Order: sequence, then C-alpha cells, then structure tokens
Amino acid sequence: NLSKRLACVAKFIPKGARLADIGSDHAYLPAHLLLNQKIDFAIAGEVALGPLQNAQAEIKNAELTKQLEPRLGDGFAVIKPNDHIDTVVIAGMGGQLIQKILAEGHREHHQYEKLILQPNTDTAMVRTWLQNNQYALVDETMLFDDGHYYEVLVAQPGITSFTEQQITFGPFNLQHQTLTWKQRWQSELNRLNQLLITLFQAKQGNSIAYQEYQNQAQQIKEVLGNAS
Ligand code: SAM
Repeated sequence: NLSKRLACVAKFIPKGARLADIGSDHAYLPAHLLLNQKIDFAIAGEVALGPLQNAQAEIKNAELTKQLEPRLGDGFAVIKPNDHIDTVVIAGMGGQLIQKILAEGHREHHQYEKLILQPNTDTAMVRTWLQNNQYALVDETMLFDDGHYYEVLVAQPGITSFTEQQITFGPFNLQHQTLTWKQRWQSELNRLNQLLITLFQAKQGNSIAYQEYQNQAQQIKEVLGNAS
C-alpha cells in the first residue's frame, strides 16, 4: 500500500493518464496506479542505478513489465515523443531540485497537460517557477505523514499572477485554510519565535537576521489571522 504522502499525490493523477514519474525510486506510485487500473502506461525515470534497480525489481514483482518502463536518465531526458506522456510527477525531493529538473526539462511551446509536484521543502520556489513558465497552479494541498509536513502542487498550462503572499503560502491553501496547513505555519511561527528569543538573549536584537525572522513571523501571523 502507498504511504499517505504518495496516496495524496496519486489522488491528483487523472484517470487514463500517460504518466512519467521522475525520480521514481521503487516505482511504488506508478505500480499502484497501474495495478488499480487508474492508468495503463507509465515510465519510471531514475538518474541513479540503485533506485532504478529498485524500480526494476518492483515492476517484475508486480508483473507490470508491459505497462511500466524503468528508464535511466536525468529528469525529463527519459521521456520520448512516442511515449505521448501527458502527466508528469516529481515527488519526494527538495523544491530546489524539483525546480532544477523542471527548468532543465522545459522546452518552450511544449507544455504537459498536468504536472503533479510534491516538494519536501522550498515550495514557494516551485510555485515561482510554474508562474514564470506558463504553468498555472490549479490545486494544492498540505498533509502530515510520518512526522513531516508535505505539500502537493497541481499545475496545467496557463497564466497566473499570484501575489508574493500567495506564492509563499499557496493561493489554494489560503482559500481552504485546512487544519493541517494552519498547524504547519503555526509550528513554523513557534520555531521563529524561539529563534527570536534566542537571538534577543544573545544581544542580537538589532541584527539583520533578527529583522528577517521578525518579518517572516509577521507574515505568518497575518495569514493565520492573529496579527498583533
Ligand atoms: N518519487 C519517490 C517518492 O516520492 O517516494 C522517490 C523519492 S526519492 C527520495 C528521490 C529520487 O529522485 C531518488 O531515487 C533519486 O535518485 C531521484 N532523482 C534525483 N535527481 C534526479 C534527476 N535529476 N532525475 C531523475 N531522478 C532523480
């Protein structure tokens, strides 16, 4: 069975999608979707040999060799025109790496119908890349699994002009105000407040770092609706 995190990613994949899962490792996600007949073709891309072997083992085990192709390569390089891939997943990596993979794989005038991205960190960076490259964020969510908060972003071709606040916190998160999302930012606020106390006690109350953390804390207070 899929982890809560990957199950959340799976939920956003359209039925019948032709899927490329970039950085697939064990290929659990595409294998699960194929076994449940939600899709009927997928590529499991991997840049590293060990994880590719994990994918190969899983594919053989699940008897999916006809529908799920493990391929060694960097990012989007594993996708060939004849695959007719319409949906790309990049999950379980830092936002910086996801942004790099997107930037390196991006060709102008070639947009995928759907991108489903699950950055472990630096989500704002991914939202910014999407907005700068004619992908519109159309949905997003935050979840808590195994002691960590994770975000899932869904994008399709389109133009947006989100505010800085929307880029930082997520336009749909701001609308939906789920409990998990509030808890995530409350815990970030607590962390910043602790840092501010530590800096103040170390007589760093006038430092640039102190001001920066104070700004961040203020922004969070504003979106959580308890600005003082
Ligand atoms: N996507 C799976 C998930 O969410 O559970 C596996 C995540 S795993 C932590 C990240 C994987 O991405 C690793 O197996 C790593 O080898 C792969 N990876 C990192 N950079 C990559 C790149 N440029 N192209 C393809 N795969 C990459």
